[in-house]
Parts: sequence; structure tokens; C-alpha cells
Amino acid sequence: MSAKFERLEKIGEGTYGTVYKARNRDTQAIVALKRVRLDEDDEGVPSSALREICLLKELRHVNIVRLHDVLHSDKKLTLVFEFCEQDLKKYFDSLNGEAMDQNTVKSFFKQLLRGLAFCHEHNVLHRDLKPQNLLINKAGELKLADFGLARAFGIPVRCYSSEVVTLWYRPPDVLFGAKIYNTSIDVWSAGCIFAEMANSGRPLFPGNDVDDQLRRIFKLLGSPTDENWPGVAKFPEFKPFGPFNPCNDISSAVPKLNSKGVDLLVQLLVCNPSLRLSSSDALSHSYFD
Ligand code: AMP
Repeated sequence: MSAKFERLEKIGEGTYGTVYKARNRDTQAIVALKRVRLDEDDEGVPSSALREICLLKELRHVNIVRLHDVLHSDKKLTLVFEFCEQDLKKYFDSLNGEAMDQNTVKSFFKQLLRGLAFCHEHNVLHRDLKPQNLLINKAGELKLADFGLARAFGIPVRCYSSEVVTLWYRPPDVLFGAKIYNTSIDVWSAGCIFAEMANSGRPLFPGNDVDDQLRRIFKLLGSPTDENWPGVAKFPEFKPFGPFNPCNDISSAVPKLNSKGVDLLVQLLVCNPSLRLSSSDALSHSYFD
């Protein structure tokens, strides 16, 4: 694969390419290599993507998967990442139906928000947060992976294996076709993941398609109206979902979460993106006291 790295095993297929565990031949350090797949008729790696990716090397935080290096040769792009033992999806699977400890939920969610707040302070969005790209290492540190890649390569619609990307963590404004993204997109996803952790790995809104996804969201959070979300009908793909649903009691959807946790969740899962809490404000919530 490269003179510098010995490829050990394939770890997974991500949104942007195949991930391998590898060893640095000089230092013996274990890393994760992500071979980015580029369209065959492409002229190699777009320079805009390369610029974006190189900026990510400077994004250093304990809760962000460290991008050590960017190898670019022969029209191929390989990203060299810090190696983490597992991801949150695999962690959920390993619970085997057992309940997740609520202190672990709090610790993981705090780390998720710290990583998120750091990226948002540096004007980097994720846009596709989900349990598969929250990595966990041996020390119990949770790290966000794939930050900034959506901006470099485009927002994912299909995965490497041509599977359609999951919609479960997408906010209603994006599902309605919003083209302007800001930090609120990641806050929504973080809220969905918080609820999923509190429910020991049961996803909050496991929709099958865009309409089903929106229906599930509005069933719990109430239908959008021009009063609770001014201008909602102006989104390019807006459609009214009848019959009208009132807002339900969110605590019934997360029975194990304490009342402070529910209060925080309610402020993250706000359909109107301009009213969603920011990641740094979420960190100051009394749930974390
Ligand atoms: P991703 O493209 O980040 O979705 O990666 C696909 C899968 O590869 C993930 O679900 C992880 O299990 C694994 N993976 C990605 N990055 C790393 C890493 N830095 N260390 C270990 N495993 C990784």
C-alpha cells in the first residue's frame, strides 16, 4: 500500500472509502489508513478538497480523531489517522441488550460535545455525525471522526459500498432541502445520539426514507407551523404532514434519562434550527454538574 505503512487488516467501509489498520514501518505505531475513493472519471484529487483536508491536520483536540498525515500520490488520497479500538455502533452491539450505564452516557456525551464545540469554534462542520463515526479508544476517550470531510468531498448521499447514507441523524431543515448549513446541523445529530445512548443503542428516529424520517420526528416533537417555525413552508422540499401532531412528552421516549438530561435533550432537538442550543451552551447545562 505504501512504503511507509504495513497494511494489517481491513477495519471497515466508511462513507468516503475503505479503512485499514496499519503499522508505521519506522516507528511501529498503529494507525488507521483511510483510502479515499475518487470518481473514476475524475482528474484525481480536486485541489479544493486537498486544501480543506490539509487544514484539518491543524484541528487538534483530545475528542477529535487526529489526522496525522495526508498522502497524495498517483491520483490516490490516503488519510493517516490515529487508531481507535472501536466505534459507538460496535459499542452498542457489544452491550447485547444490557443497559448502558447512565454515567457512561454522560461521559460520552460530554466528550462528544467538547469535540463538537471545538470544531464549531474553528468553523468546521461535520454534517454527517452518527454512532459509526464516533470512535472510542482503550482509555474510554470518545473521538469524532470524519470532521470536515463533507465540506471537502461534498455532503454524502451514498456510502463507499453504494449504500444510501442513513437519514436517522439529519435535522428536519436539511430533510426539507435546506441548502444553507451551519453548526445547528451537528447539534441535531448530537441530540439524536444522546437519546440513542440513553436508550442503550436504540435509535430515536430510525426512518426508512425522507418522508418516514420527518413523520417520526414530528410525531414526537409536534408538527411544524409558521408560529413555532416561521418560514418553514419556504424550504425547497417542504410539504405539510397531516394530521397535525401536538408536541409529545419527550421523557417517554428516553425513560432512563434523568430530568436534567431530558431538559437538555429538549433544547437540542428543536425543529427550528435557529432555536437549537449551541454545543458550547449545551456543555454548560446543569445535566453535567
Ligand atoms: P468511517 O469512514 O469513519 O465511517 O469509517 C468506517 C469504519 O472504519 C468506522 O465505523 C470505524 O469502525 C472504522 N474506523 C474509521 N476510522 C477509524 C480509526 N481512526 N481507527 C479505527 N477504526 C476506524
